[in-house]
Amino acid sequence: MIAAKKVILAQPRGFCAGVIRAIDIVEQALGKFGAPVYVRHEIVHNRHVVERLREKGARFVEHLSEVPAGAITIFSAHGVARQVEVEARERGLRVLDATCPLVAKVHGQGKRYVAKGRVVILVGHAGHPEVEGTMGQISGPAVLVQTEGDVEALDLEPDTPVAYITQTTLSVDDTRAVIATLKRRFTDIVGPDVNDICYATQNRQSAVRELAKVADVILVVGAKNSSNSNRLREIGADAGVPSYLIADGGELNPAWVRDARVVGITAGASAPEELVDNVIATLRGLTPVEVSVLPGIEEKVEFRLPVELVRAKRTAAGTV
Ligand code: SF4
Repeated sequence: MIAAKKVILAQPRGFCAGVIRAIDIVEQALGKFGAPVYVRHEIVHNRHVVERLREKGARFVEHLSEVPAGAITIFSAHGVARQVEVEARERGLRVLDATCPLVAKVHGQGKRYVAKGRVVILVGHAGHPEVEGTMGQISGPAVLVQTEGDVEALDLEPDTPVAYITQTTLSVDDTRAVIATLKRRFTDIVGPDVNDICYATQNRQSAVRELAKVADVILVVGAKNSSNSNRLREIGADAGVPSYLIADGGELNPAWVRDARVVGITAGASAPEELVDNVIATLRGLTPVEVSVLPGIEEKVEFRLPVELVRAKRTAAGTV
């Protein structure tokens, strides 16, 4: 008889509170206003989630010019630049903002630092929609840095009053070296309290580090354009464990797991648990498996829906 392969799931993994809220907003908007509702950018970076919402009547667009005047328009969890908010107002669009409250918090920090006369330095990945949104929310001097080399190359005097903020899908560990370089380079520098980082990013990264201690191979379930999922894969690989990012079981290469005694699985913050189940089912198709979950943090964070939808929900339940 073939010995069962051990499959160990990271805890926590998958959906965070910001993603749950964003998906809820689209579903509730469809329930209250009917299809179609328009969503600017993928609501979260996951094709399966987007397809399911599309089937229910959500239309995904990259530019507000694609939205008919007066239509219900939802901003994705990644947030948007001020210019996008202005354009939506000018076009008379009815906006529901699914920007994650933790991203909105970073926007607020950036604006406050600029109001105090500081140059804002955002640590993040160029081209990511969250970074574009955050840079576009700060109406003042702001620069993006990705690496320690970028910090060294900044065309700013060492005594310039500066403040740093960070992309939410980078953890304390990711940004440590860049922030240390910033602190060395600038004499008048402030930044947010360490408690301000995204709890979900930090928890998923800590969990994959634990997983790397026991797994022979790590499968990260998530989309190729999901920043936090890519980081989970990198952390696994940096710990010396072959690690692969896959959208679902269909992308699993049997050769990756053939010789592994223990297969570790985690999922990015925008990947639904059903895709983890799908990967386990694919593994079961190859070999008998025994599934267990690593001990880890039970997250209890919940974010409130926008007030328009909370009212809709209560009315539907007959409590208003
Ligand atoms: S990963 Fe963090 S910042 Fe991003 S949506 Fe989830 S909770 Fe919000």
